[in-house]
Amino acid sequence: MAFFFKRTPPPPSSQPPPAAPEKTSEPPADMLSPEHELETAVESAAELVRALGQGGFDTDDLPAATLAQQCEAWAQHLLIYAEAPELGAQKGVKPKRQWRALVRFVSQRRKSEQRFVTQSQSTLRDAVWTFVRTLSRVLTTDRGADERVASQLSRLRTAATSPSPDELRREVSFAVDAIEEVMRERQEIAAQQAKEIATRMKSLTVELEEARREGAVDALTKVPNRRTFDEHVERVADLATVVGAPATLIMLDIDAFKSINDTFGHPAGDAVLRNVADAVSRICKRKGDLVARYGGEEFAVVLSDTSLEDACVLAGRTQAAIRAVRVGEGDSARSVTASFGVALITPGETASAWIARADAALYVAKASGRDRVEVG
Ligand code: GH3
Ligand code: MG
Ligand code: MG
Repeated sequence: MAFFFKRTPPPPSSQPPPAAPEKTSEPPADMLSPEHELETAVESAAELVRALGQGGFDTDDLPAATLAQQCEAWAQHLLIYAEAPELGAQKGVKPKRQWRALVRFVSQRRKSEQRFVTQSQSTLRDAVWTFVRTLSRVLTTDRGADERVASQLSRLRTAATSPSPDELRREVSFAVDAIEEVMRERQEIAAQQAKEIATRMKSLTVELEEARREGAVDALTKVPNRRTFDEHVERVADLATVVGAPATLIMLDIDAFKSINDTFGHPAGDAVLRNVADAVSRICKRKGDLVARYGGEEFAVVLSDTSLEDACVLAGRTQAAIRAVRVGEGDSARSVTASFGVALITPGETASAWIARADAALYVAKASGRDRVEVG
């Protein structure tokens, strides 16, 4: 606010300077006096701190009520020089507003709330996935049990048309046994799963820490790594079981990559891996798609909500994009190719069975001459 006090430089002439304005003169109507401005600034700062306290929420290190009290104390400190929270009265010292300490307090609260919200969101997300996983297992187990009961009921239906009362009695008794057994199994499974959920919830925090430490991206190609893929593919398989969402998996492996390394050197091989990862990511770029490095020169693409036909079209486009990747210079330059295995998930199928089918299709593509797409 120094400009309020700036003096007008004396005029260059030898004329006596014009009389200084009267000390008591009012500032222009649209300008506040420095004192008034300071007062307004302090009141506004106090209001801001109060607003922070009123809009606060419970975090793991501070309940909302305590935050509101602390903010009110800071507002009082600004307005009437009440003791600043956590600083106490400074004996023998003329009261002074602790601006720096206030800034520290506000920014610490903001950081702490941000950390809390981010962590809560991922915990909630994981809890939802745990629920989906459990539901998927229940549905898969139930499907098997339902088939057993259905087959028993169908035998009962046949027996009902038979003239032999003994056979009917026997089949009724078998059907009752089968239904009882299924109900008992369901109860045991439900109890076991409730226990599992409780244990998993407890381990979530540890898992979050681990995930953060390990990092989710492959260092060379910058696409998600194997660990991210494993987690994602499990979730997609669970969703397919629970809501029957179609999803397709493409596994692709660069052809004769060893000879690329041998001919052009390991760094050129690394560049090919990066270019192939870019090419695949350029084609499979929808929000629900996940392109990951599966290992070595193999990549995996999980296409959520995608039919087999659409996945095959994408695999064909990816094949063309990889052919456009070149390695080497001049006459020795050659284009890169890859082989593809595509598989649509079957509801109830495990992630590893799904991957195995795509892998088997990839194997067929390799065995039948490479640079081609096969469906598993
Ligand atoms: P195919 O057509 O049957 O897939 O043959 P291929 O040569 O591609 O397969 P093979 O499994 O024989 O060789 C894969 C090579 O990939 C061997 C390995 O040294 C190389 N490789 C794995 N990871 C990397 C990497 O990060 N960088 C480089 N430059 N090479 C890698
Ligand atoms: Mg290969
Ligand atoms: Mg390979």
